[in-house]
Amino acid sequence: MRIALNPDRPGPRLGTPGSKRPSRPRGFVLLWLAALLLPALGVIGTGLTTWSDVRRDAEARLERNAEMLRQHALRAFATQEAILAAISRASTGRDWEAMRQDAELHGLLAELTAAGQPVVRGVLVADDQDRVVSASYEFPARPTDLSDRSYLRELRAGAGQTVGEVLVARPMGWPAFGIARSAPPRPGAEGPRGTLVTSFNPDALAAFYASVVEGPQDVVTLARLDGAILARHPVLPPNAPTGPRPEAAAPLAQLLGLPRGAPPPVLASPFDGTRRLFVAKRVGEWPVAILYGLDQRALVAAWRRRMAAPLASGLAAAGLLLVLTAIAARGAREQQLAAERRMEAEARLAGASRAAAIGLLAAGLAHDVKNLVQAVRSGTRLMESRAEDPAEVRRCAGLLAASAERGRQLVDGMLAFAHGGAELEATELDVAPALRELAELLNRTLGSGWQVKAEIPPELPRARGDRAGFEAAVVNLAANARDAMPRGGRVEIAAWVATVPEAPGGEDLQPGRYVVAAVRDRGIGMDAATLARIGEPFFTTKGVGLGTGLGLASVRGFCERAGGVLRVDSEPGRGTTAAIWLPAVG
Ligand code: ADP
Ligand code: MG
Repeated sequence: MRIALNPDRPGPRLGTPGSKRPSRPRGFVLLWLAALLLPALGVIGTGLTTWSDVRRDAEARLERNAEMLRQHALRAFATQEAILAAISRASTGRDWEAMRQDAELHGLLAELTAAGQPVVRGVLVADDQDRVVSASYEFPARPTDLSDRSYLRELRAGAGQTVGEVLVARPMGWPAFGIARSAPPRPGAEGPRGTLVTSFNPDALAAFYASVVEGPQDVVTLARLDGAILARHPVLPPNAPTGPRPEAAAPLAQLLGLPRGAPPPVLASPFDGTRRLFVAKRVGEWPVAILYGLDQRALVAAWRRRMAAPLASGLAAAGLLLVLTAIAARGAREQQLAAERRMEAEARLAGASRAAAIGLLAAGLAHDVKNLVQAVRSGTRLMESRAEDPAEVRRCAGLLAASAERGRQLVDGMLAFAHGGAELEATELDVAPALRELAELLNRTLGSGWQVKAEIPPELPRARGDRAGFEAAVVNLAANARDAMPRGGRVEIAAWVATVPEAPGGEDLQPGRYVVAAVRDRGIGMDAATLARIGEPFFTTKGVGLGTGLGLASVRGFCERAGGVLRVDSEPGRGTTAAIWLPAVG
């Protein structure tokens, strides 16, 4: 029956820095990182997709609102056009003076204005001198001079239909912007023609825009292509510049030039500095565009609202993972501490077993020394009795010198063995000479009934392990062999090189070359129950005061520290082979 007392994990190898302690579990750094990073990545991913969702929703709404506002503006301008067409028909072929007196014409203008309420502010007809001849707001109309109006100047310059800027309309004093076209030509008249003017109420437009916007910071602007602002929600402060603005005309042209479906650009308002997503649409053929600006902060707020739940679950997941990691790390730390404690105990055991081995050898040594002393005494007695025979005295002196030399060798060997403990930190050893010296020492010290037979090849690779630990291990195995043969016998010590092949399923050793040192006896052997427990500290079958149960535990500890294994092969009544497997170096 064979048993291998090997480490249940690949043990640390002697000689590597810090090899006496198991290295810190580095995997936990990754686990901690993963516990934080995985939920964080999840939240970031959700954040990005949510942001793109929020933006897509906003873009769709922006497009819908802008289109609705464009339709509204188109209808409003169409109404103005219809009004101008109606006045044009009513004034065709009539002279200025007749129109000035015509209450019916005034009635028509008032009716058209009422029909276009609230966005239509007023309607008037001006003569070829730019003076008002008929108006919706009063009868008879005061001949207010309109020649300073830019839309009239543009008409004179040849434009077919013009859109004016927001002005305070004379004589009523209300804010308005006009749409103007030339009056139909009068029969027989040459030179400048009169003008038909209808005007928008920008406040009414702004009120409608106010009812359309989604957020308090959203902006709707009706602007001329040259940047002049015609109507706006929120209403601008009275001193804000509303005339043509080249700095606004360029971005407006860019906005209008964007292809359909392009992402709306973010622009900062020159009035309040707020950054908004803008969509602009041209109003028919009119030199006018409608703009919708959506506050970017509203987007961020919507995103925050939608992120609350994923963020909370991300935090909860991170918390849970951290707690689990902490529990796992604590478990691993405890296991590591236990392993460290075990290694320390085993190292102490190694020292104890060496002391025991010295004690074990001391008995045999005393016996040898006694023999030597005996030889010296008989030598001196012989010298005394044969003092006259110089040849005999010389022979006795030679015998005494030989005895003294043997004594010196014994004491030297013992001292060397006793001091060996100092080199516990050594990392490699030469097994062959160590075993040869041990065999000689054991042969003298195991006792007179036991012989040691060594079979050691002349050359062996160097092996991992400290020499002192190795010697103590072999002495322990030899002592067990002796104890297994109470009536005396032969203890065999052998050594050889063995190879563990690659990937052998269920092997207890790493693949590679090993130096094996074995101690064999033909003694009482062990049954399965004993074999299963050997190597357990303090397990002994020997009587009180005879066994400590520390021998095999310390041999096993030595093998593990060196990255090897102790294999014990035993059968009751037939004997035992205990083999120390140490990794070969180089
Ligand atoms: P101890 O020798 O102090 O009892 P060990 O750890 O050296 O402690 O051995 C533990 C037990 O293993 C022994 O008590 C004995 O029962 C058994 N054992 C060890 N080596 C042998 C062997 N060569 N032959 C038979 N039994 C052995
Ligand atoms: Mg023992």
